[in-house]
Amino acid sequence: MSPPDAGGRKLARAFLEQTLASEGSALMLEHATREEVLRRLASAGRVPQAGAAATADGDASPAVAVTSPVAAVTRSAIVEAADLEALAALVASCTRCTLHESRKNPVFGEGAANARVVCVGEAPGKHEDETGRPFVGRAGGLLDRLLMSIGLPRTSVYICNVLKSRPPRNRDPLPAEVAACAPYLLRQLALIEPEVIIAFGAFAARTLLETKSALGRLRGTVHRYSGYPVVATYHPAALLRNPGWIRPTWEDLQIVRRMLDGVGNHEARSG
Ligand code: URA
Repeated sequence: MSPPDAGGRKLARAFLEQTLASEGSALMLEHATREEVLRRLASAGRVPQAGAAATADGDASPAVAVTSPVAAVTRSAIVEAADLEALAALVASCTRCTLHESRKNPVFGEGAANARVVCVGEAPGKHEDETGRPFVGRAGGLLDRLLMSIGLPRTSVYICNVLKSRPPRNRDPLPAEVAACAPYLLRQLALIEPEVIIAFGAFAARTLLETKSALGRLRGTVHRYSGYPVVATYHPAALLRNPGWIRPTWEDLQIVRRMLDGVGNHEARSG
């Protein structure tokens, strides 16, 4: 067997999770050369060109390195997307995680490119997957009404999710999927430069604020994500099940309204 080499080990580890392991390969990953890994992948019908790119631009997510024959979108390509349209085009061809295999449509996000408020949910559901638009089901209708209650028509804000593809059967997003998709959200925010982000639901709030805290502890004050103020509140879908949470949600949205109006200092705590 050829001597181990660092490049081969790196590639091998990156491919292990989704490709070789799932195909039952007996490849000795720790001792494989880069050429050996590439040869095995080629015989499995995989084209790993994005793995090299992902390593080169410092993207450590294993999900990023594993591709179907389409080259994966690199973190550099995402950071360099000049506008939301260019970014949406990258999402449309994205294979950074395996969700592209089961989704019907990517759900990039929609709204005003210069929105003062960005609403972030968890991931597309069934209706969103079918239409390619965020928050269009019953929860979406309630979201629209909540936003209107603070004088924000849906078209005045920007609406998106942590994940741009629907997890099968609405299961919870996996950490590797969040890691693969996070650069898109960061670029969306950098392009929009909102005055405030509303994280709808525990998953979005915990992901943005990198905490395991309960949503109840995160509500009521302003946190920070990548420099942007974040207000966390209940997910509209949760409100459909628990109408008693509508009032506290409205109170959280009042914080947003006051921020937009420049009233008071709400940054009592930073996340
Ligand atoms: N739930 C979400 O978190 N996002 C959507 O787009 C729809 C439902």
